[in-house]
Amino acid sequence: MRSLIILLLTSTLLLGWGKTGHRVIGKIAEENLSPMAKEQITLLLGHSDLARVGNWADEIKSDPQWDHSHDWHYCTIEEGQGYQGPESGGRAVQKVTEFTNLLKKGILGKKDQTDVLRFVIHLVADLHQPLHVGNGTDRGGNDVKVSWFKEETNLHRVWDSHLIDHMQYSYTEYAQQIQLGLTQEQKTNLLNPDIMSFVNESRSVHDRVYDIGDGKLSWKYVYKNQELLEDRLLKAGYHLAAILNDIYE
Ligand SMILES: [Zn+2]
Repeated sequence: MRSLIILLLTSTLLLGWGKTGHRVIGKIAEENLSPMAKEQITLLLGHSDLARVGNWADEIKSDPQWDHSHDWHYCTIEEGQGYQGPESGGRAVQKVTEFTNLLKKGILGKKDQTDVLRFVIHLVADLHQPLHVGNGTDRGGNDVKVSWFKEETNLHRVWDSHLIDHMQYSYTEYAQQIQLGLTQEQKTNLLNPDIMSFVNESRSVHDRVYDIGDGKLSWKYVYKNQELLEDRLLKAGYHLAAILNDIYE
């Protein structure tokens, strides 16, 4: 029984953006893929629908074969420090770097290439969830107990799912809404494949994310954070497209 409880607990921790979040990001990224990237991704996946595969890396957490991947979904930047590497906790940065290099070299067999590609699609998205770049003290906000419209939860889950679900859009609607009014110039500027720039940005917004007052979160927290949430989703989509375009140049 005890091991079952531990299993249940760990499997619900640090999932990354919930299903809708990953789909929104996948949809935005797909719309910004180069023809070459689309072609190469289709060879591996049979299609280039990134929304369809964005959640795979979370789903396989139920498979013991993939137990070693559980700390690939986040990284840590301690207060007042720059990124110090995976020793601080979490291998997301290391894995995205390693996997993009492997895909560029094109030396893997088709099955491994497909797995690695699906990880890149997922982990780049996770790194835009501010609490997937943790501060090393509270397991990415999982230990910060809060209520969400009177329901007991934690700050990590608020950012994984509650905020997004609150908007009540389908993933295709939200992907479209978030991009409304973007100029071509803004889109071009967003297509940035530099991993550390978006990791540092996720960490730099912690003051806003942790501004939770008495921990009873509802309308006011939504009002204060909707813009930030949408900014993270938007950038995740464009950064992911840029990384994939860069791999398949
Ligand atoms: Zn994840």
